[in-house]
Formats: sequence, structure tokens, C-alpha cells
Amino acid sequence: MDEIYQLLEPEIWSKEIVFGNVTYMDFEAYECAFCGRVHRGKQLSDMYVELYGSRFEDFVWLDIPEIVVTERVLALLERERITGFTSRPVHIVNGWRYGESPSLFQLKVFGSGGHLALEGGITRIDECQYCGYTAYSIPPDKMILVDPNQWDQSDIFIVPELPFYYFVTDEFVEVLKANNIRNYRLVGASWYVSW
Ligand SMILES: [Zn+2]
Repeated sequence: MDEIYQLLEPEIWSKEIVFGNVTYMDFEAYECAFCGRVHRGKQLSDMYVELYGSRFEDFVWLDIPEIVVTERVLALLERERITGFTSRPVHIVNGWRYGESPSLFQLKVFGSGGHLALEGGITRIDECQYCGYTAYSIPPDKMILVDPNQWDQSDIFIVPELPFYYFVTDEFVEVLKANNIRNYRLVGASWYVSW
């Protein structure tokens, strides 16, 4: 089976590389009457971001865990028929002070890896019976285990237990590598195999 990875921002950060702060994004919000947690629902508007940094790379990381890419990356992913996402334009507030910004797009990931296999050392540390909120702890030396039988075969996907963890397949990574796309990091994840 294909390898899978978690897609992340680079570990070593240069101040010159363009990053963004979100200034506006509307989404449905529900407050749990029992635990008081506010849960994010459907995104209702595009994102508006302020850009910092003088050097554009292919991924633009934000102060919130969303994936934003340049139009070049989006076009490549679409051309190579990468599955598991739709896109939404990202609006730049106050322009980019170093010139004309490439058009930016948010990758809205809907691909699903199903429920995580908790046997991998991942434990439930908090739970609300009323709204279903659950928090998990992942030991740093453990890999996240995705169940291949629940995975919908998308090239980019998420799991409900870790909504802001983005997983990608070899297919996805190949498109990035073959086109010299930069400014991201991959951490190995693993398939869960039951014996
Ligand atoms: Zn709750």
C-alpha cells in the first residue's frame, strides 16, 4: 500500500518567507450548553489574510491550521487529479507590500481517513458526553495510525479525531516533488494493520 504522511509547515522558519494572519473568516459556531466549548461548523465565507514576509513560496502558512497554496500549486493538483479537496479563494487584505501577490487558494479537505485506530498509543484524555467533544493525546514517539479499511482513498484526507491534521498519500507527495514545490514538511504516518 502507498505510504502516507502528515503535511505540515516547515520546522525551520525564515522570516522572509511569506506567511499570513487571518483577519476575517465567517463560520457556523455552536456552543455546547453542557461544557461551554464552541465548536466550529461549516465555513461561511472566504478567508481574508494579511501577508508578511518578502519571499513567496508555494505554500503560505497561516496563524490558524488551514492549508493555503498559490494558484500554481492548485493548478498542478487539479491537473494531476489529486482527490480529497475543493478550493476557495483567499483574499489579501492591504495588498502585499513587496509587489503583486500570486493568487492564493485555501484547500478545503473533505477526504476522510475514517476513525483513528486508538491502539497506536493514542489515548482519549477528555470527553464531553453532551456534544461529543473528545480530546486525544498522541505520544511524540508514536505514529498516527490510519485504518485503510475506513479510508475513502482520497489523496489528501482528515480524520474526525484530529480535525487539523492533514494526511497525504504518495500520489500527492509525488506531484509536489516532481514540480519542485517547496515550503512544507512531511511526517510519516502509518496504516493500522489488525492481526
Ligand atoms: Zn460539550
